[in-house]
Amino acid sequence: SDLFQAPDYYQVDDLLTDEHKLIRDTAREWVKKNLSPIIEEYAQRAEFPKELINGLAEVGAFGSYIPEEYGGAGLDQISYGLIMQELERGDSGIRSTASVQSSLVMGPIYNYGTEAQRQKYLPKLASGEWMGSFGLTEPNHGSNPGGMETKFKDMGDHYLLNGAKMWISNAPICDVAVVWAKNEEGRIHGLIVERGMEGFSTPETHNKWSLRASITGELIFDNVKVPKENLLPNKSGLGAPLLCLDSARYGIAWGAIGAAMDCYDTALRYAKERTQFGKPIGQFQLQQKKLAEMITEITKAQLLTWRLGVLKNEGRATSAQISMAKRNNVDMALKIAREARQVLGAMGISGEYSIMRHAMNLESVITYEGTHDVHLLITGLDITGLNAFK
Ligand code: FAD
Repeated sequence: SDLFQAPDYYQVDDLLTDEHKLIRDTAREWVKKNLSPIIEEYAQRAEFPKELINGLAEVGAFGSYIPEEYGGAGLDQISYGLIMQELERGDSGIRSTASVQSSLVMGPIYNYGTEAQRQKYLPKLASGEWMGSFGLTEPNHGSNPGGMETKFKDMGDHYLLNGAKMWISNAPICDVAVVWAKNEEGRIHGLIVERGMEGFSTPETHNKWSLRASITGELIFDNVKVPKENLLPNKSGLGAPLLCLDSARYGIAWGAIGAAMDCYDTALRYAKERTQFGKPIGQFQLQQKKLAEMITEITKAQLLTWRLGVLKNEGRATSAQISMAKRNNVDMALKIAREARQVLGAMGISGEYSIMRHAMNLESVITYEGTHDVHLLITGLDITGLNAFK
C-alpha cells in the first residue's frame, strides 16, 4: 500500500488473513484521509475532534469484537488490534477514545450485563450515538484501585452513589459511564451511570501536555440515585474491572506499534532527504543506528503482538502475557518517538510533523492502564510467584 511507506520488515502481513488486511487497510485509509489532516490542530487547541465519531464507528473502532446482533463489528482479536494500530498511527488520543468505548464500556456491558442492558446500550455505543467512559481511578487510588472509596448503598428501590473518579478519558462528553464502586460489604460492582442523573457531574481536566486531542475529566457522584437495573449483575470484585483492562491493554500493545511506525516512517524519510555536510544525514552511522534499532524493535513488537492475538483468539492469552506486551510495546514506542524526534533536529519539535505529538501522547500511554512499573511487577509475580506489590 502506498499509504504508508515503512517496510513490513519480516513480512508479518503473510501471517494475516485477507480479511485482516482489508480491515487494516480500510482503517489506515480512513486515518490518512480523515484523521491525520486535522489532528494536529485539534491537539494544539486541546480539543477532541467530535467530527471523527461517525467515521470511527464506520471503521469498526467501537466494539470491534462485539457481535453484530448488538451493533458491534463482530471481528476477531487480531482485527481489533490492527484497527487500534492504525488509529494510533494517527494519534494515541483517538485510539484511547476507541479503546475506552470498545473494551472498557461496551466490553463490560456485553460481558457482565443483562440482555436488557445489552440491547439498550450496545447498539448506540457501537454507532457513536452515545459515548461512554470508564471510571476506576480515584484521586487517592490509581495503581491500587482496590482501595477505592466510591461507594453505593441499597435504598430499596434504587442505589445511592457517592464518590469521585479522576483522570477519566471521555468523561466530559460521555452519555454513559461504567463506574466501579463498593457496596456496603466492600464488594466492587459496576454501575451504569447516565448523563442527566441528578448529582452526577463531569468537569474537564485542563492543562494536559499529553493526549491533548482526547478529552479527560472527573466523574463526581453526589448522592446520585442509580436505578437498580443499572447494576452489572454478572461479575463483581476487582477482577471485573481488571478483565476489561486486559482487553484494553491488549489493544494498546497493538496501538503503540502504530505510533512507533509513524515516527519511524517520518524519521526514515527525513533522514534520506535532509542534507548536512554535503550528504543525506541518513548516511551518517549515528543516524543509521537510530533507524536500524527502530525497525528492529518494531519488528519484535509486531511478532510479540501477533502471537498474543492468536492466543487471545483461542482464549488462551493470560493477563501476565498481556502486561508484557503492553509494557514492552509502549516503552518501545516512546523510545522510538524520542529518537525519531532527534533525527529531525529542530523540525522534530514542530507540529509540521507528528513525532512530538506522539512522544507527548505516549507519556500518558506508559502510565495509564497500569504503569510501566506495575506491569513489570505483574511479570515478576507471574514468574516468581512472589508478590512485590505490597
Ligand atoms: P500512582 O498509582 O500514584 O503511581 C505513581 C508512581 O508510583 C508510578 O510511577 C507507579 O508506577 C509507582 N507505583 C505505584 N505503586 C507501586 C508499587 N506497588 N511498586 C512500585 N511502584 C509503584 N483511569 C480510569 O479509570 N479511566 C480512564 O479512562 C483513564 N484515563 C486516563 C487518561 C489519561 C490521560 C491519564 C494520564 C490517566 C488515565 N487514567 C484513567 C488513570 C490511570 O489509569 C492512572 O493514572 C494510573 O493507573 C496510575 O495511577 P496514578 O496516576 O494514581 O499513579
